[in-house]
Amino acid sequence: MPEEANPFESLQEQIDDAGAYLDVGEDVLERLKHPQRVLETNLSVEMDDGRIEVFRAFRSQFNGDRGPYKGGIRYHPNVSRDEVKALSGWMVYKCAVVGIPYGGGKGGIVIDPDQYSEAELERITRSFATELRPIIGEDRDIPAPDVNTGQREMNWIKDTYETLENTTAPGVITGKAIESGGSAGRVEATGRSTMFAAREVFDYLGRDIEGASVAVQGYGNAGSVAAALIDDLGADIVAVSDSSGAIYNADGLDARDVKSYKTETGSVTGYDGATEELTNEELLTLDVDLLVPAALENAIDGALAHDVQADIIVEAANGPLTPDADDVLTESDIHVVPDILANAGGVTVSYFEWVQNRQRFYWTEERVNDELERIITAAFDEMTTAYEENDLSSFRVAAYVVALRRVVRAFEEGGSWP
Ligand code: NAD
Repeated sequence: MPEEANPFESLQEQIDDAGAYLDVGEDVLERLKHPQRVLETNLSVEMDDGRIEVFRAFRSQFNGDRGPYKGGIRYHPNVSRDEVKALSGWMVYKCAVVGIPYGGGKGGIVIDPDQYSEAELERITRSFATELRPIIGEDRDIPAPDVNTGQREMNWIKDTYETLENTTAPGVITGKAIESGGSAGRVEATGRSTMFAAREVFDYLGRDIEGASVAVQGYGNAGSVAAALIDDLGADIVAVSDSSGAIYNADGLDARDVKSYKTETGSVTGYDGATEELTNEELLTLDVDLLVPAALENAIDGALAHDVQADIIVEAANGPLTPDADDVLTESDIHVVPDILANAGGVTVSYFEWVQNRQRFYWTEERVNDELERIITAAFDEMTTAYEENDLSSFRVAAYVVALRRVVRAFEEGGSWP
């Protein structure tokens, strides 16, 4: 097995690739390749049996030229300093490509949360929130959920922060439950931006999404919502999968009914509207008009990419293609709408949540969805304009060019001081 690329080095290469198309000095690019600061801390927390256990945790604040740092907190045994640094950098570009006024951050605790009780997880989370308190805040750094964290953890972090600061500051964190200051439409936001990206790319390429065949890998939050909304556009969702395997029906599956079936049974396999069961690899190489990877990173590597037959890929997951796969697909003229734009609905509606928190005025779901549509379609147009103007090889490079240009401008307008 080849060693997996160091994510932080991959990020730095992407910045160099996009920088080549901009009038920007090496010195400024170098500055944008490193986090501004990284907090590393060791949380010592009492377990249910009275023992103290120590957990390593990080928060990387990559770049704040365009606004407060923004990005999730993940709980996973593989969390590392380099991974957190890279993920915080990608958040800079995700926020910049859709033009929302944030920089990038990311955090994590090295932990397998399944091994701990809810009370232990609450103490661990509150301990991390206490360490984060001096560097986060509504105007400083606004964490959010990521792998293995959700509304519960966000509510604990908000409560810890507000208690220690003796204030109310719901906008210190996003991804909260509605009653704790969350936003309507947040749960569906990532799948919804994936649908907008799919609709726009079909339109851009002069193809009809109505009647198009679609395969969706991963049927969790992002994948199942994207499938249902793309189904609503008249496409045929011919195959979907989760970690248990894939199901297929050439005439199209009922995306919402599959979701109900998965909620009841725990998996998509065994669904009686399917005519065939496939492996996940078979799903990824189906001859479809659109493939939506919505599971985990590195789902398609260089070898598998040679067998991909889809015409268009819209990345709902973060980093579903390895850099090698990306090269192979670019050479095969398969159009890929990159994750930083397609799945930016999550962070965009987090931004709406923060705006509503600060205004103490809450929007209807309809308003949230309309504003999201406006932002994603405008970002798509800016990406394709950069793609054409610079004669770029892929939408991904174009998205990075748009994003990097915005970050560089914000830095240059502010100037270098001290
Ligand atoms: P989730 O846990 O709700 O769903 C993940 C799904 O992938 C599950 O159905 C799981 O069974 C399936 N899966 C896991 N391994 C698989 C495999 N090998 N083959 C096929 N399916 C597999 O997670 P989610 O929130 O939907 O996130 C999915 C992706 O979208 C991640 O990359 C995440 O970073 C990205 N994303 C999510 C959001 C969000 O708001 N939820 C925002 C931005 C990006």
